[in-house]
Amino acid sequence: MDTITTLDKTNEKVRLNAISEAPPKGTDKTAAKKELEALGEELFDLQDLLWGARMNSVLIVLQGRDTAGKDGTIKHVVGLLNPRGVSVTSFGVPSEEEKEHDFLWRIHRHAPRKGEFAIFNRSHYEDVLVVRVHDLVPESLWKERYGHIRDFEELLVEHGTIVLKFFLHISREEQEKRLIGREQEVRKAWKINAGDWEDREHWDDYTEAYEEALSRTATKRAPWIIVPSDSKWYRNLVVARAVTEALRPYREDWQKKLDEVGTRKKAELEAWKKGR
Ligand code: ATP
Repeated sequence: MDTITTLDKTNEKVRLNAISEAPPKGTDKTAAKKELEALGEELFDLQDLLWGARMNSVLIVLQGRDTAGKDGTIKHVVGLLNPRGVSVTSFGVPSEEEKEHDFLWRIHRHAPRKGEFAIFNRSHYEDVLVVRVHDLVPESLWKERYGHIRDFEELLVEHGTIVLKFFLHISREEQEKRLIGREQEVRKAWKINAGDWEDREHWDDYTEAYEEALSRTATKRAPWIIVPSDSKWYRNLVVARAVTEALRPYREDWQKKLDEVGTRKKAELEAWKKGR
């Protein structure tokens, strides 16, 4: 089985140019689709236990350059889950009210409650990415944010949240293909945004910003997973695999809690029946 690049050590250097955007040689698309289906069933099952046990929650952060496939991942991987207990929040340009608060203000209220999944389509990471590349706040301010982000995510973890952060890694060539594809296909043209072409001109600045963000905020308990995303089927598989692998170790605890609750409720019902 191929390995997934996981970053879980703070300040370890990351070189995105050294990490492939393509599936490893020999990865088979048909087998990948089959595995995704099996993972989907396992995830659905795990989600039921998460929901019932209410001991933990899950936060999935999706970051990536334009066209990297954040929406596609939501459709194909998050779509494997029971919508009950899943919230998806897309973070665009902050409103005036949001700008007048600290950068985590708009984020924190969308953190998942126990038993639930929260998916962030873009996130607090924009505040050290687009903000840095386009010089939207002074460097002295965004530099401090890595530490705030680590503390914020640690707070969520302490509250029982399983935090997984995905960087959807696409190549410059693949992005160009996808942007042109949007222009050429009438059905996809609604996604056209001149800003995406403009941001391409800042490719290297974004690479630098991403490398620093990934490195400074990777921790054992809130790791980054770098997802080769030039092939959509492989991207979906890697994300589904990582989420399933992160949840699997909790199965026994969640099941135990549900068994205890079930035993207690049965006894309560029996006592009630006897007392009638
Ligand atoms: P996407 O490109 O994510 O599919 P979209 O093109 O439909 O989405 P929106 O969802 O409206 O656009 O907004 C995304 C844009 O908001 C991105 O260009 C992103 O850089 C920007 N953005 C997100 N967070 C911030 C932030 N904190 N500060 C400035 N810009 C931000």
